[in-house]
Amino acid sequence: MTVRARAVSLISGGLDSMLATKMVLDQGVDVVGINIYTGFCITGHTQAIRFKHKEKPKRNNALWVADQLGVELHILDVVAEYKDIVIHPKHGYGAHLNPCLDCKGLMVRKAREWMERHGFDFVLTGEVLGQRPKSQLKSKLPIVARDSGTEDLLLRPLSAKLLRPTLPERNGWVDRDRLGAISGRSRRGQIALAKAYGFTGYAQPAGGCCFLTDANYSAKLRDFWRYREKKDYELDDIMLLKVGRHLRPRPHFKMIIARDEGENRFLQGYCRRFTHLTSDSHPGPVVLLDGETNDEDVALAARVTARFGKGRDEQEVRVRVTAMDGSARIMSVSPWSSEQIPEDWYL
Ligand code: SF4
Repeated sequence: MTVRARAVSLISGGLDSMLATKMVLDQGVDVVGINIYTGFCITGHTQAIRFKHKEKPKRNNALWVADQLGVELHILDVVAEYKDIVIHPKHGYGAHLNPCLDCKGLMVRKAREWMERHGFDFVLTGEVLGQRPKSQLKSKLPIVARDSGTEDLLLRPLSAKLLRPTLPERNGWVDRDRLGAISGRSRRGQIALAKAYGFTGYAQPAGGCCFLTDANYSAKLRDFWRYREKKDYELDDIMLLKVGRHLRPRPHFKMIIARDEGENRFLQGYCRRFTHLTSDSHPGPVVLLDGETNDEDVALAARVTARFGKGRDEQEVRVRVTAMDGSARIMSVSPWSSEQIPEDWYL
């Protein structure tokens, strides 16, 4: 009786890992998916909160991919371990605060550990040679294999024919001739393959899958570290950086201003931990004050809060200021115009 090889596939929820998994599944390999949750993932979170995305189906892309392929999926939470990678990446950052090479090394290591615990044979990923400058250059791929401890057991099906044969190929667990030769930043090869497999509705790569590749998000994280005077974070901190407009009127405090109903509801969940402002006389945003504030700061924040509410064109708006102990007061303020808010307050 032939024993089927068993592989662990890193499923991000994007098209590449979907195609790579399918390519190996079609060769009769048993595949289990692993999805890594770092806290910086975009999928599911912002889409689920933002009101303007309400027409889009709310889904976890990794679970959706697993469902489409008919494979089991395990979601591994690496938030605690990931912190060290974001703060001290051994291989440095990419264009923003994305530590891609270290990140890939960790993700593939997690897949390897799962593989070893469960007696599986190899790991596969949707990496494409030359697609990303930081982690997928030919010179970088061996670093991921080495750092993760997978070495010869790491198969990249989409680019396999352009790479040295791995153990799964040499052992005949997969047929190298039926693997891919895709490389570069163009998505043409993947889109053609998706069409051939009949895949539709897959997540588009625009916007990336991780907030650390986003210039605005990285600027907010840098600002957070600068004013906390240490490079550290808790999960809630990095969640709040994903939500709302962030304005820093003074070095000692910043404002987090909800942009729509969904964000209002999300920020309400944090109200007990921050002094917060809401417009009492008109619909408007929930605003959190992050930092130590005095009366002058709160008065300024009230005028800015009024600016972002429906009373922005009125002479006077009543703003409720609620302290962390629940005590509240009402301030009557004249809303600022957008010109009165300096550009460099926006993070
Ligand atoms: S884009 Fe984000 S999730 Fe992807 S490898 Fe880079 S740091 Fe990791």
